[in-house]
Amino acid sequence: MTIKLLSEDVASRIAAGEVVERPASVVKELVENSLDAGATRVEVETSQGGTALIRVRDNGTGILSHEVELAFRRHATSKLERATDLEHIATLGFRGEALSSVASVSRMTCITHHASEATGIQLRLEGGTVVARSATGRPPGTELIVEDLFYNVPARRKFLKTERTERRHIDAFMTRYAIAYPDTAFTVVHDGRQTVNTPGTGDVREVLLSVYGPDLGGSLLEIPADLTLDLEIQVRGFVGPTTVHRANRGYVTLFVNGRWIEDLRLSYAIIQAYHTLLPVRRYPIAFVMVEMLPEDVDVNVHPTKAEVRFRDGDSVFRAIQRTVRATVVAQAPATARWTPPTQVGSPTQVGSPTTTADAQTPTSATNSLAQQNRARLASLRPSQSHIQFPPARSEPTNIGSPAAGSTTPASAGPDWKLSVSATGAPAPDAVPPQPARAQSSQQLPPLRIVGQVATMFIVAEGPEGLYLIDQHAAHERVLYEQLLSNATTGQVPSQPLLEPRAVSLPADEADRLEEMLPALRKLGLEAETFGANTFLVRAVPAQLKHIAPADLLADVAAAAGESSPIRAELEEIVIRHICKRAAVKAGQVLSIEEMTRLIHDLEATENPRTCPHGRPTVVQISTEALARQFGRGGAA
Ligand code: ADP
Ligand code: MG
Repeated sequence: MTIKLLSEDVASRIAAGEVVERPASVVKELVENSLDAGATRVEVETSQGGTALIRVRDNGTGILSHEVELAFRRHATSKLERATDLEHIATLGFRGEALSSVASVSRMTCITHHASEATGIQLRLEGGTVVARSATGRPPGTELIVEDLFYNVPARRKFLKTERTERRHIDAFMTRYAIAYPDTAFTVVHDGRQTVNTPGTGDVREVLLSVYGPDLGGSLLEIPADLTLDLEIQVRGFVGPTTVHRANRGYVTLFVNGRWIEDLRLSYAIIQAYHTLLPVRRYPIAFVMVEMLPEDVDVNVHPTKAEVRFRDGDSVFRAIQRTVRATVVAQAPATARWTPPTQVGSPTQVGSPTTTADAQTPTSATNSLAQQNRARLASLRPSQSHIQFPPARSEPTNIGSPAAGSTTPASAGPDWKLSVSATGAPAPDAVPPQPARAQSSQQLPPLRIVGQVATMFIVAEGPEGLYLIDQHAAHERVLYEQLLSNATTGQVPSQPLLEPRAVSLPADEADRLEEMLPALRKLGLEAETFGANTFLVRAVPAQLKHIAPADLLADVAAAAGESSPIRAELEEIVIRHICKRAAVKAGQVLSIEEMTRLIHDLEATENPRTCPHGRPTVVQISTEALARQFGRGGAA
């Protein structure tokens, strides 16, 4: 093949691919232009997930009538004149690519009116070519209408996800910008349904309440301005308290000089600021805005400008980590009240008096509880034993706080390594199990409860010796099978709430949740949509009545975000998530009756020997092994 220059038309469509990946990227470019134009009101409207129509209307400066055509040319920008301007960019745009790119892959209409002129202009383009121009009247500002996106790039059109997914991307983007630009009023309407509506009063808290709802929006902590007041790098924003956390990192948002960026390292600075304050594998909600001199950050390194380069990245990292940490630690509630799950009754003192006090340890001090538990466990270690405790892991767990939703036994305590008979679960170092009865049986033998150790493990005696049961893992297994059987048999012990609870969620979560309502009903969770992004919870599964409906819905939405689209799997993932939060925690004192009921319920499950995440629920030490420890040489 000989080398040929691409035609202007083909070249521009290829270039568009860098900027315009999906409807949300169009919204991003157009909204950024509105903000650059000083708009205090930005209205976004879409139909069919933005594929049929995207309309962005603003009250910014407008475009001069003789410059409208120019704005649609490649590399035409009013924001940059000389190459040196690149070193201190204060606007969101600067490459002059967006309008030409979007225009080249759609049918576009631009209606704009510059305040200095008597009338406005309406320009119509198809595939980037101007097809009509006329004078028109409208208040100062600009309205851009993008129709039939990718109509001339079928390959790209094929790769678009469902309308719902596209709407979700748009909402996620708009929500972030609404928070970062509180002086601007934003609305988003999809096919006539409003999902975002912020007042534009300059009060970030008001925006948070409007996009996240009163529960979540009201709980976020403001980073005090005085932490970085006199410094070159200023950090502002809102971060979740330690009681609020999510299953993935998607709720950590970063803005640098008013631009949303994705930076793994800086996200990590935020996550690390919560070190030891959140349960393992749970992530904070954070909205962090960094302001610094434009010349200290290079924004011209990525096609969509989602990544930036810092002159001194370490300083930015430290500033973020320090301020977030200080905010969370200072403003975390002094005491977190722990409410016992009603299903297993209230805890009674069984162990030493100190354990009850531990169970109510303030959130910020729960770390020491985990350490105490470890210390207590370690002190139980027989000096000449085959049972080895590996050193405690470096990630302590949030035990005993109401929000320790995902405390898992595997990480809450040391791993057991048994060189004697460990049963059941696939512990890598365990020798093959010595089952109590039939080799094939997964079932548990009848057990007699002896007591509780370290408020984590139930000690029991059985036909084959000593049994240690991880209370959290065991309860997870019980709940998991109960909920799963609810779903399959349709016999749902659902508990109607005396008063239905309204729960608001961020638009993208609400969208996901709405899809799942029928599946949730099968689990006994009755919720219906109730206005934009709000749900009315009418009934919850009886096993979960001690969990706040808001937590329940947030968990489900987060699970849905991670899960595969296969319905059956989705249910399982959701149930696993719920069980994590609902199960009795390590650190919780159990009465003999509670332990007996739990073991009884565990015996009734199909797979009593592992938790839904595959970790062991039961560890068994045979009488022979115990005897050997005491130098009794085999026989008891
Ligand atoms: P860039 O934003 O990088 O300058 P764009 O292609 O996005 O490039 O826009 C080209 C130019 O069109 C901008 O520099 C600006 O002058 C003008 N423009 C685009 N959108 C608007 C708007 N909503 N209001 C006012 N001017 C606009
Ligand atoms: Mg632009």
